[in-house]
Amino acid sequence: MQVAPALPARLRGLYTAVLLFLFALGSWLAWDLWRERERTMELAARLVMQKSQFMARAFGDTFLAADFVLRDVLGHVRPERDLVHPDPDSDHRQRIEGLLRVKAATIPVLEDVALFNHDCIFTAFAKGNFYGRRSTQRFCADLQVGPGERLHMQYLPVERSASKRPVVVMARTVGDAQGRLLGGAMAVLDLQYAQNWLASFDVDPQDNLSLLDTDGVLLARIPPLPQAIGQRLAPTPTQLPFSELVGVATFTDPSPVDGRLRVYGVSRLGDFPLVALVGFDRSTVLQGWRHRAWQLLAGYAVLCALTLLMLRIQLAMLRQREELRALATTDALTGIANRGQLMHIGAQEFARARRYGQPLSVLMLDIDRFKSVNDRWGHPTGDQVIRVVAQTLRSLARGQDLGGRLGGEEFALLLPATPLAGAWAIAERLRQNVQDSDSVRATDGAAVRFTVSIGVAALAAQDTDFDSLLKRADRALYLAKDGGRNRVELLDSDAAAGLG
Ligand code: GH3
Ligand code: MG
Ligand code: MG
Repeated sequence: MQVAPALPARLRGLYTAVLLFLFALGSWLAWDLWRERERTMELAARLVMQKSQFMARAFGDTFLAADFVLRDVLGHVRPERDLVHPDPDSDHRQRIEGLLRVKAATIPVLEDVALFNHDCIFTAFAKGNFYGRRSTQRFCADLQVGPGERLHMQYLPVERSASKRPVVVMARTVGDAQGRLLGGAMAVLDLQYAQNWLASFDVDPQDNLSLLDTDGVLLARIPPLPQAIGQRLAPTPTQLPFSELVGVATFTDPSPVDGRLRVYGVSRLGDFPLVALVGFDRSTVLQGWRHRAWQLLAGYAVLCALTLLMLRIQLAMLRQREELRALATTDALTGIANRGQLMHIGAQEFARARRYGQPLSVLMLDIDRFKSVNDRWGHPTGDQVIRVVAQTLRSLARGQDLGGRLGGEEFALLLPATPLAGAWAIAERLRQNVQDSDSVRATDGAAVRFTVSIGVAALAAQDTDFDSLLKRADRALYLAKDGGRNRVELLDSDAAAGLG
């Protein structure tokens, strides 16, 4: 019987359990972090949408008010009389311009209010003095289409604006029964007003608030970016064209202005061809999350490292303990059990055999005339012989059997669940194998031959302990020695009980 090395299996189980736990913990942390990232991004998307909606509503109201002024002015105007150029009556023109001044003063964003005729020639102004000048070709062409039907809007950059400031121009027209343009009213909105209004919001340097027209032309922006105002910005990869936007939308894209990745919310300003855009820098949005992710990752790494270190220490300790145990129970020269271990297991097997009424046999071996082996070939060769006998013993031992060296050139083989007849057969084979062995060579190459004498004893009713069984095997061994050596012997009492 071998001393069962239960340790590796137990350790393997422990290692697997610990690694599985670490893996499960790591997976759970990764999943939780991923979900929290999603939640953070969703929250940011909701925030930018809300903010853009608020901006769109507030700013939409300004444009709505300007539109009211246009409708109001047109309500007070008789197209055939008031929208003519040149006006033959200068008093009439002054009266009309007085009305325009009153209307223009109703909302601060209005830079000017003007009237124009069927040819887009200005016939009256609230503030400016461009009487007789013509509106731009392109805008005039737009004004000619479907008079009286809709609001016309156009962004004018500095170089095309009469006031030399970027403006948005809004116009409403009136037509005759044939659908021809008679003229209309025009409101000029100073974009600096929009810029100042945006500046009243507190924004992170990496975030932005913008006002654009639905063609993507940037009208105002915070943080300020004067060189980009009036630029038509290319749509970002996943963004819906602003002209198709109804209500509010969100998308995450690199900015066409500075390339930074942002979470955007965009809202249409009512029916106006304008949108309010709010962008939160994605890296800033995820800053808190990233911080937590690093903390968790570091904690997890430390936990893994400490756990693995502890497992290694424990493994080393268990190995050491196992080595010490092996050292204490094995014989240094032969590697088989030593006397202490043999006596210990022998006592256990004795008790077990007694309890379950099973047979138990023991062989006792002694190398014949070993002194002369030593004398003739030297001590090292003698050691070699001892090792070969131990090996032969081990090769014949079955699963439960335990061979051990009792000391010097004496050995024993414990045979649990083996009756005397079986033990005898094994002893015979053992004796024969030793006799046949030619693996030990002297320095001159000649085979060193040697034999063993074996005493056999089996558990009997009178045995009180393992020692008494061993003693009988020892006595049988003496019989073998006396009988001429290289023999197997047993006591008469055993023979009578066991072999009949
Ligand atoms: P017998 O047939 O009666 O057993 O004769 P023997 O020569 O074997 O007699 P004995 O048991 O008295 O001799 C044992 C010898 O074994 C004595 C000792 O020198 C030698 N011996 C004991 N332990 C070792 C060992 O570890 N290595 C070697 N080489 N010799 C040992
Ligand atoms: Mg001896
Ligand atoms: Mg001997």
